[in-house]
Amino acid sequence: MAFTAGGRRQIAPAQRLTDFVEGDLSTSLNDTSYQPGLKSAPLHSLFPNFIGSRLRKGFTAFDQKMRGFYTEEANIIGVESRTSSPVNIPRNERLEHPEIHNLFPCGEGGGYAGGIISAAMDGERCAEASIIGL
Ligand SMILES: Cc1cc2nc3c(=O)[nH]c(=O)nc-3n(C[C@H](O)[C@H](O)[C@H](O)COP(=O)(O)OP(=O)(O)OC[C@H]3O[C@@H](n4cnc5c(N)ncnc54)[C@H](O)[C@@H]3O)c2cc1C
Repeated sequence: MAFTAGGRRQIAPAQRLTDFVEGDLSTSLNDTSYQPGLKSAPLHSLFPNFIGSRLRKGFTAFDQKMRGFYTEEANIIGVESRTSSPVNIPRNERLEHPEIHNLFPCGEGGGYAGGIISAAMDGERCAEASIIGL
């Protein structure tokens, strides 16, 4: 749905934060560093209610703790809809594929990390394993 709302290209659907909370389509958006660009879209209607209503409450509640957080100067962009790779390439205790010599599956694509830090740490271990062995 988000892909369609963005025009079925790399352009991301976006909405001003205040419009998301109010349930209004944004007539204009703030500048962005996201290079493919933004397209105004009713993100508030893309999420299931149990997610959208909690985000709405959360955005306004957070403003009580951090004044200025809830502002029309903020865009919300796209929806984060994926999780880590569901693929898990096997590897042995030396971090090498059990059947393919010198193949060291690592990081997210290999199924051994779920974010930036875990991918970096796993990559470092695999680099060491491939050079000096474990
Ligand atoms: C939109 C988005 C938001 C995210 N937000 C967060 C976040 O807030 N916090 C967090 O912790 N994680 C976040 N992640 C996840 C995080 O980015 C990844 O888990 C992490 O980057 C995986 O690192 P990696 O080194 O395993 O793989 P990647 O960073 O994907 O690196 C793989 C590299 O291999 C290259 N490559 C692929 N095929 C070949 C080939 N045949 N030859 C040579 N090179 C090749 C690719 O070009 C790429 O550079 C986010 C991911 C996305 C997509």
